[in-house]
Amino acid sequence: MPAGDAERVWFPEMLSRLEEVDFAWNNWASVTAFCDAMMTYRSELRKAKGIKDPLTRCPACHTISRMRLRGISVRSFLFAIAKSDLISEVELTRLDRQWQQHRKANKLDKFGRTAKPKLLEEHCCS
Ligand SMILES: [Zn+2]
Repeated sequence: MPAGDAERVWFPEMLSRLEEVDFAWNNWASVTAFCDAMMTYRSELRKAKGIKDPLTRCPACHTISRMRLRGISVRSFLFAIAKSDLISEVELTRLDRQWQQHRKANKLDKFGRTAKPKLLEEHCCS
């Protein structure tokens, strides 16, 4: 596997699907739904490519375990579509600002979900 694939957020196959999004920017929920769909797609790609989650060492007990990859944030998505020339730099700046405001107003996390106390997803050694 090419170096860096284990931690890659956007695979080329995913970038080519960015154009499927209908860029109606008054609907952030549709954007976060797309990010979720991309995350599912990424899991499928990783499985198909035989990519395992990266190993990580717990700083407390030094146990080595597999790190669960995080979701795809809206911000990461915005930068990806700008990089693919689907929006301009000016639009990127505007949308990024709009998104931050929307996030704050609705108390969302960076994935567009309602922020709640996070359950520990990795191992628990205490
Ligand atoms: Zn530990």
